[in-house]
Amino acid sequence: MRKEAARLDASDTLRECRALFEIADDVAYFDGNSLGALPKAAPARIAEVVQSEWGQRLISSWNDADGEGAGWIDLPQRIGAKIAPLIGARRGEVIVADSVSINLFKLISAALAMRPGRKVVLSEPGNFPTDLYMVEGLEMQDLAERCLAERADIEAALDDNVALLMLTHVHYKTGEMFDMARLTKAAHDAGALVLWDLSHSVGAVPVDLNAVGADFAVGCGYKYLNGGPGAPAFAFVAERHQQALKQPLSGWMGHARPFDFTDDYEPAPGIDRLLCGTPQILSMSALEVGVDLMAGIGVDALVAKSRALSEFTREAMAQVVPELECVSPADPETRGSQLSWRHADAYALCQALIARRIIGDFRAPDVLRMGFAPAYVRYVDCARLVTELRDILDSGEWRKVEYAQRGAVT
Ligand SMILES: *Cc1c(COP(=O)(O)O)cnc(C)c1O
Repeated sequence: MRKEAARLDASDTLRECRALFEIADDVAYFDGNSLGALPKAAPARIAEVVQSEWGQRLISSWNDADGEGAGWIDLPQRIGAKIAPLIGARRGEVIVADSVSINLFKLISAALAMRPGRKVVLSEPGNFPTDLYMVEGLEMQDLAERCLAERADIEAALDDNVALLMLTHVHYKTGEMFDMARLTKAAHDAGALVLWDLSHSVGAVPVDLNAVGADFAVGCGYKYLNGGPGAPAFAFVAERHQQALKQPLSGWMGHARPFDFTDDYEPAPGIDRLLCGTPQILSMSALEVGVDLMAGIGVDALVAKSRALSEFTREAMAQVVPELECVSPADPETRGSQLSWRHADAYALCQALIARRIIGDFRAPDVLRMGFAPAYVRYVDCARLVTELRDILDSGEWRKVEYAQRGAVT
């Protein structure tokens, strides 16, 4: 298996990409779906923004009057335009701002306002917690009614009370991937709008929002986009909805003319109205480096490598560690760039792997999850994961007491 892995690495068209990231050679990093690796170009870019743009040019960096300024004010749109081709969106349909949670609040509210007389936001139980919690916040204000239907029952639950179908495209725990085209159409046929959470999709699986006619989407900057811890998120609004869109976080940066300082809010034309407060320039500068890198590799190459890596691992694991039950779909066309296995002691196994510098994660209550960030994961890393896990199980090493102690973040 190791030989086969080395052969695959040698012929991998993305083999040079790992060197663009700051990852030690002896680290097998399977957590790029939770916190993407540091692009080597990011520290210098952040230092430049801090020392030159902030330190020297000070407030003039907001503008780009002479074409040589930093143009901070345009960063949300500029990075949005670079993310757009990764998700099948047009320029002007994507903006970078705030966190996924906050963008969910804006877009769920906007969708509810577009469907007067309907209050139901339909989702699935076990969706990423923040997505469900944000609907609860709107429920508390009596603006929404949360309804959860199991995957197989979603289409049947789309009745004429549903204002919005809100789903995460790739499930964070199991890696299951929804058929975006089919569910978007089903929601539209029922008169509902659709919001896709692309946090585990962008940069790893094919997404074509406009081809499927999606209305809204949100996604994360710190996972496959490698934007750094707490990187700002992005939001997509289909062009056809932008002029009518009303979102309640009507901060001054989303105003048509913020520097008129008027008393009354007037939303900016287009996607800019999704902005709320001042953009986080330091975080956005780091995100831009990550997005440039991923956009440079291109979505097709990323998707192809992601599938090949996860297939290699799924098959090897089934052979070498058959006692672990794979809970991700066997068909790479219906799963994201991750694999999850169930084991009663998944937490301790994960800790024992981390001690051997094989970094994946645990998701409560019993899931061992490995993400395959195609830009820097190697086939030899996958082979090592499988053989070392076998060794950890056989030796009983995972029973060490320190592997049972949980930190605040798991
Ligand atoms: C990571 C993730 C988020 C993150 O939300 P933040 O508000 O940016 O912390 C949201 N939804 C999904 C599905 C995620 O995987």
